[in-house]
Amino acid sequence: MNYQRSSALFAEAEKVIPGGVNSPVRAFKAVGGTPIFVEKAKGAYLYDADGNKLIDYINSWGPMILGHAHEAVVNAVIEKAKKGTSFGMPTEIETKIAELAVSMVPNIDKIRFVNSGTEACMSAVRLARGYTGKDKIIKFAGCYHGHSDSFLIQAGSGAVTFGSPNSPGVTQGTAKDTLLATYNDLKNVAEVITANKDKISCIILEPVAGNMGCIPPSKGFLEGLRKLCDENNILLIFDEVMTGFRLAAGGAQELFGVKADIVTFGKVIGGGLPVGAFAAREEIMNRLAPVGPVYQAGTLSGNPLAMAAGLAILQELDSNREIFNSIAKKTEYLHKGLEAVLTSEGVKFTINRVGSMISVHFSDKPVTDFDSAAAANNESFKKFFHGMLKEGVYIAPSAFETWFICDALSYDDLDATISACGKVAKTLN
Ligand code: PMP
Repeated sequence: MNYQRSSALFAEAEKVIPGGVNSPVRAFKAVGGTPIFVEKAKGAYLYDADGNKLIDYINSWGPMILGHAHEAVVNAVIEKAKKGTSFGMPTEIETKIAELAVSMVPNIDKIRFVNSGTEACMSAVRLARGYTGKDKIIKFAGCYHGHSDSFLIQAGSGAVTFGSPNSPGVTQGTAKDTLLATYNDLKNVAEVITANKDKISCIILEPVAGNMGCIPPSKGFLEGLRKLCDENNILLIFDEVMTGFRLAAGGAQELFGVKADIVTFGKVIGGGLPVGAFAAREEIMNRLAPVGPVYQAGTLSGNPLAMAAGLAILQELDSNREIFNSIAKKTEYLHKGLEAVLTSEGVKFTINRVGSMISVHFSDKPVTDFDSAAAANNESFKKFFHGMLKEGVYIAPSAFETWFICDALSYDDLDATISACGKVAKTLN
């Protein structure tokens, strides 16, 4: 494939945008090469600036669960735009999408809309702190909750000691309130809690991790966290920015039958427009301004175009809940197909999958946490990524990302992907 125009566009972009991109993973740093510029997308396909057609396994990092440019979503946005694009005043559609979201998701009474997953998680943690009167939070190494200061903390020498910032600009003062734990390790979480008795406001996690590749919670992990939270007066925050309205209508809470105290959303809930949200039972949500003292606001929060896109997609999902099964089945088919061709070529790999989230790790050991994800062979991943791209299949340009399967993908697309993988597998050993 020819990427001349993409390369030229990237060179222009680099002159005026840091790294040529408005979000770092897009820059192909982890895999090398220059990023592809998109011209348009429809259904399961991307069409790039050079006229190449690619099967898309990123789907805007999750939002496009029904595929790109879905008619109901596009029409809803066009109709809304004709009536004005922002007012900074209440509109009826905000209540409509809130009612629908509250009806689909278990254990929430009220929801507030923001503009990104980052904002949702940042606000959820502030609310947890305001509600419990405690400062510290526990997060898991390898879980991503957006780029707010409290979350940009990497593993220090011991999880019970203070975290250290993993970006300049995040202060030690902030870092000291973020405690790190190991995903899928309840014993470790219990130790962190014991070492910080009565200081922890919340535990935040991705109930299925999607930011170190896809990593499912091990059996009993979520239940164990629920129990630890109950015993220690800690709020459990499920970051469902990826999993919400994807794994089930009620997200991971529904899929695993575990109750969270605060839930955050992004991606699917905005139908591809910039939307995030956080939600909880009434008693917690009523601590928010203007009812309560915990401040949180946004000029464009509840923006009519964003709400129109979000409402359209939630209505589609609510009225056809079979979609969740259908995309999970497609993902299982892909899993089996990839597994067969990689095995027959003697490649060392582990595939993790939950519902419509899946990732391939080039490691023959189980991938259950950040360290085991990081131990996989990144050179193989780079070759795999570029090989697949040459075959017209666009997967995430980093091994620390999940692929998202959309409803628009056909079994022919899946077969084409599996056969591409078979060819690429021959180059991996
Ligand atoms: N939480 C999770 C689980 C995410 O995957 C992401 C983004 N990939 C975020 C939060 C941050 O969302 P945003 O990029 O919309 O700020």
